Amino acid sequence: MTRKVEYVLDTPVDCLTMSDIESDITKHMAQKKAMVLASVNPQIILMSEKNPTVKAFLQQASHRFADGIGVVKVSGWTNGSINERIAGIDVMEKVLEYSDAHHTSIFLYGAKPDVVKKASDNIKLLYPGLSIAGVIDGYTTLTDKEIINTINQSQADCLFVALGSPRQEEWLQTYMPELTPTIFQTVGGSFDVFSGEVKRAPEFFIKTNLEWVYRSMSNPKRFNRLFQAPLFIAKGLMWHQKQSKE
Ligand code: UDP
Repeated sequence: MTRKVEYVLDTPVDCLTMSDIESDITKHMAQKKAMVLASVNPQIILMSEKNPTVKAFLQQASHRFADGIGVVKVSGWTNGSINERIAGIDVMEKVLEYSDAHHTSIFLYGAKPDVVKKASDNIKLLYPGLSIAGVIDGYTTLTDKEIINTINQSQADCLFVALGSPRQEEWLQTYMPELTPTIFQTVGGSFDVFSGEVKRAPEFFIKTNLEWVYRSMSNPKRFNRLFQAPLFIAKGLMWHQKQSKE
């Protein structure tokens, strides 16, 4: 079945549900066919307007899911079909569940040394059926070549990259052709959550799609995201109007 792709500010977003992603994880792993799971949120879309590598990453990723309520809202207001926000960390959990059940292996690249170590220990406790093929922190002095060799030699099936945006998208876009895992995912701050260092927003914020507001308010580094949201919505709606007229 061909999947519907929608453009938001010239960035492709796939019309996907979580169950589509789950069944594709099984298919891609069975066929050892590369699967690139990319979170698309307002910040990444605005970034991709100025960053051609991020843009190319999003154009080429196999699964670009709407990981931001702003993307879902702009789609809805412009008669689009994206009606579900899919959180990156929930997708990561689906990959971990698959790995647990099928005894495959994962590699964690990114975050601070103690964070990625703690995240890996906690993941192993939560998903004892999977194996941790390796861990490299995001502040390592290893060269990219050495990182690639370590990942490939570990024979990991899934690679999670947590370097923050745009570094994680740029890194995967540059080195994916040399990497051997089957599933790749850009996961932002998810290792911080798995490590216990950062808590996910309270249920109320998740249910009301306001997790981003909670995270922006509780981290001064994310504060500017509160202002990016209205900018994104205005730009997204204007872009759509212009496209409709052409
Ligand atoms: N990070 C990293 N290396 C860097 C910059 C960031 O490993 O040079 C890690 C950071 O420690 C955190 C993750 O990237 O674990 C996500 O960072 P942030 O929350 O800023 O990214 P976002 O979720 O906004 O993409």
